[in-house]
Amino acid sequence: MLPFDDALRLILESAPLMGSERIAVGLGAGRVLAEELVAHTPLPTFDYSAMDGYAVHTSSFTSDGPQSLPVVGESRAGLSPPPLTPGTVCRIFTGAPIPDGADAVVMQEDVARAGDSARFAARPAPGAHIRRRGEDLQQGACALPRGTRLNPFQLGLAAAVDRSELLVARRPRVTILCTGEELRVPGSPAMPGTIPESNGPALAALVRAAGGLPELAPRTGDSLEETERALRAALRGSDLLLTVGGVSVGEHDLVRAALANVGSALEFWKVQIKPGKPLAFGRFGDTLILGLPGNPVSAQLTFALFGMPLVRAMQGDRRPVPARSRVRLKSELRQKPGRTGFYRAVLDGDLALPATNQASGSAASLAYADGLLIVPADSSGYDAGASVEMIRLAEL
Ligand code: AMP
Ligand code: MG
Repeated sequence: MLPFDDALRLILESAPLMGSERIAVGLGAGRVLAEELVAHTPLPTFDYSAMDGYAVHTSSFTSDGPQSLPVVGESRAGLSPPPLTPGTVCRIFTGAPIPDGADAVVMQEDVARAGDSARFAARPAPGAHIRRRGEDLQQGACALPRGTRLNPFQLGLAAAVDRSELLVARRPRVTILCTGEELRVPGSPAMPGTIPESNGPALAALVRAAGGLPELAPRTGDSLEETERALRAALRGSDLLLTVGGVSVGEHDLVRAALANVGSALEFWKVQIKPGKPLAFGRFGDTLILGLPGNPVSAQLTFALFGMPLVRAMQGDRRPVPARSRVRLKSELRQKPGRTGFYRAVLDGDLALPATNQASGSAASLAYADGLLIVPADSSGYDAGASVEMIRLAEL
């Protein structure tokens, strides 16, 4: 059985890089930059006023005290202003270019206007209320490094440096194949012993959150032949195949045998984690394969812990692994040492309360959880008040 960190490293190191495609900047949220985004123009591109007021040259002020100066012309956003006439001031608005010959802006709240004359309370400091060309980003600077998973603010920055398109990683195609005679489509007639298939919708949403394109294959029953046929079909055209269920050691757990029969190679199939444990990882040609346990909590958490980082790494994401933060335990958290434990917890401020039901069958406790508390494999747990690492589910 592989320790958690080793399994994750092995998976990430095996991640093949997707090709890239050009997309409109407005469609880039959640995509991973496949180029360094260089500012081909400085940001901002010209000196402009940060305030509504008056553009002045500080040398026009003969003293530090109050002074009146004639107002000549104006500078408005979107227009190129005439140069400042020496000894005068120019009306100016927020976002408007600073006229040649001006070196400061006085905001209008500090000016008393009377006809063509403006009375200033004091001499302004040179540079006041001027946003300088290139002060945010200089021409040629790296605006965003390759491998950035783009958030809305970064799209704003890309547009601000005048980009209409971005080169991003292609989204990995991820096929989800659920196995189990007992599974039926949610909401369909319930024969005795059947259950709604509940991993597919959750996994598809997690795939999408990691930037992948999920496709749900029709579920397969528990015969070797049927499983092999379903695997062959699901492997075609997929960058990553997720199988769900049938990967442990029961007589009807046929996925490993079926994977071997269709010619795929498995690197490992057990990881020292709880919940989870059976987790197969292998490949068939260029397609990677993750064999998830069927149990909904185990399936969804192992995909969150290994699969989402893999889907991100396939896009060249510089930070494929979910962030961890520290929280304080509201009550004790114990485990039998041996496997890295990921425990569902709800947050009360920055106090974490472990869920009372940590059973791997409890889908409800996962749905209500704010995060996963991490207990290292060699630890038997923590007392109330201890500081513990947590992965917040909202930040997956
Ligand atoms: P397995 O790994 O196939 O032995 O499945 C373990 C448990 O998870 C069994 O109780 C299955 O009925 C259940 N299970 C497997 N796949 C799914 C699924 N896609 N949706 C809901 N439950 C499942
Ligand atoms: Mg099964």
